[in-house]
Amino acid sequence: MNMNVLSSSPSHSNCGHWYVRHGICLTCKQKPSLVEESRRFDYLFPGLRLSQEAVSFTKRLTTLISLHTHKKLHLVLDLDNTLVHSVRVSNLSEAEKYLIEGEKPGLKLYQSRIIKVRPFVKDFLREANTLFNMYVYTKGDLLYGKEIAKMIDPDKTYFGDRVITRRESPHTKTLDHVLADERGIVIVDDTVEVWPHHMRNLLKITRYFYFKHNGIDKVSSYAERKRDESKSRGALANLLKYLKDIHNGFFSCEVQEELDSKDVRLLINGPFKPHGC
Ligand SMILES: [Mg+2]
Ligand SMILES: [Zn+2]
Repeated sequence: MNMNVLSSSPSHSNCGHWYVRHGICLTCKQKPSLVEESRRFDYLFPGLRLSQEAVSFTKRLTTLISLHTHKKLHLVLDLDNTLVHSVRVSNLSEAEKYLIEGEKPGLKLYQSRIIKVRPFVKDFLREANTLFNMYVYTKGDLLYGKEIAKMIDPDKTYFGDRVITRRESPHTKTLDHVLADERGIVIVDDTVEVWPHHMRNLLKITRYFYFKHNGIDKVSSYAERKRDESKSRGALANLLKYLKDIHNGFFSCEVQEELDSKDVRLLINGPFKPHGC
């Protein structure tokens, strides 16, 4: 046994290997053999794994700091039909083809798709950021998720690297990947079923369709009519008002210590669709 290793890491023999990066424990510098129980957090740092204990400890600590120091809750936002609408360019209707000529604000061609940002997204993110630490959570793949995050948050002001995609979560969505206590997380998604274990945290928002989807609907699309959802009276503007109420409700306590027993799920009792959202 190498005595240098022992003396530089006195506790290595009973190390729980909480934080492992590229197979090496960040605490004891050993290569733990049992990593099945740990969870990947590549979206934060490539190669990072946290043990079960590390995940629960970090979740509690993050929420404690977030609540007491920053007076912020956590907000997990879906992308498709919540913050953007995207379709294959080949699926655009005849009357929508004008969109691919020249630059249009809020529109972007990405690989074979065309992406439209929902009205009010920029204002929504700027204001929500004062009340929440935010995550993106999409069932799209990593490159798609990052591309849209870049569109709506080019300087990584709001999401940082907190973009969870199909890579972390191929089937259903789960708050296991979010490093915060479930009692302090609000989810916004247009699809309820993908969150089987976290309904009570969930706010449902009306699906945003800008393009004619599937080509089967008879009514003309926003794009065809050269119109869009209302910025000031649309779903995101109304959602922001509701989120402010939730935040107020959560932080309306006499003494700071009360925050430790507050639970946002008692305020939402989801899945819930706020008025006008
Ligand atoms: Mg969606
Ligand atoms: Zn270790």
